[in-house]
Amino acid sequence: MSDKVYNFGAGPAMLPEPVMAKIQQEFLNYQGMGVSVIEISHRSKEFVSILESAQTLFRELTGLPDNYKILFVHGGARMQFSAIPMNLAGRKEAKKCLYLETGNFAKLAAKDAQAFGDIQTIVSGAETNYDRIPDYDPALITQDASYVHITGNNTIYGTRWNRFPETGDVPLVADMTSELLSRQIDYSKFGVIYAGLQKNLGPSGMAMVIIREDLLGHAGPQTPTLLNYTQCDKDNSLTNTTNTFAIYAIKLVLEWLKEQGGVAAIEKRNAEKAARLYRVIDGSGYYRGVAQADHRSTMNVSFNLASEELEAKFLKEAVAAGLYALKGHRNVGGIRASIYNPMPLAGVEKLAGFMEEFARNNG
Ligand SMILES: *Cc1c(COP(=O)(O)O)cnc(C)c1O
Repeated sequence: MSDKVYNFGAGPAMLPEPVMAKIQQEFLNYQGMGVSVIEISHRSKEFVSILESAQTLFRELTGLPDNYKILFVHGGARMQFSAIPMNLAGRKEAKKCLYLETGNFAKLAAKDAQAFGDIQTIVSGAETNYDRIPDYDPALITQDASYVHITGNNTIYGTRWNRFPETGDVPLVADMTSELLSRQIDYSKFGVIYAGLQKNLGPSGMAMVIIREDLLGHAGPQTPTLLNYTQCDKDNSLTNTTNTFAIYAIKLVLEWLKEQGGVAAIEKRNAEKAARLYRVIDGSGYYRGVAQADHRSTMNVSFNLASEELEAKFLKEAVAAGLYALKGHRNVGGIRASIYNPMPLAGVEKLAGFMEEFARNNG
């Protein structure tokens, strides 16, 4: 066990080992069919059953209200940066869409939306280099807006919304790519939630969109068929050939999550894992956390050492110790430990021990 490698990559990220073992075991012969799951038609009853099981499991794990639809869409999270305004800006004639910029992905979301509405960034955390969710005047969220967009968990900086904004009747749209199913949330507070699969949920290149059904039907005339949520819902995510393998994998991840005790249980474990690393950071006087304490994420823990030379040494020795992909995002440098749902406590313990020893040896 001592030479086990733990993957702290931000995405594509680690998947639960039992899920990968099951994929391997079933790969050449899916349920006695004699063919692989990636060879069968997306319209076959076997695949449709996989897709529907994933939707049912997600509802079961989240208590998602019945008036929300679950879509599987192409292009990862970033494709939704365009699809969101294409589908929702037209809810109001003025097409005013409000963005709360809490990090780089939030900024890109607003940028990609520019072409499709009157995109207004009402608050930005850039001034403090996104080390917190910035304070803002709630009056800036005006009821004439088509929607309000936030990024739930800021993957690069390791911050998250601990209390989501109150938006009244304006639909709250959240990019939850790096945190979906990591904590319990009240889904009824949101109009749309979307997430690229490759962080907490499965393989890259696809996203899940969870949309309140009354928000369908507002897509602009220029919206490509495959980005139109209403069309996608009509076809139950099978307008064209979907990424069948990714949906198969997410179904297995959801089954695994259920076996772990569901979202409440994983949330508790995630809090323990994150607290373990923040204890090392706060207690060391050696590591400097990027996120302000009240805004810390339980999914991404970003920190710096005193110099780039020490950070390079840290990363090199970490790899040798079986701690993979700890390099921080190019925007902030330093170290980032992504500890999504599948990361076991043992992996976090190993990293914490390594950090303590590195600080002792390089103080
Ligand atoms: C990783 C990430 C993205 C980008 O996802 P892609 O699937 O690569 O487009 C967007 N938003 C957040 C919050 C992310 O963490």
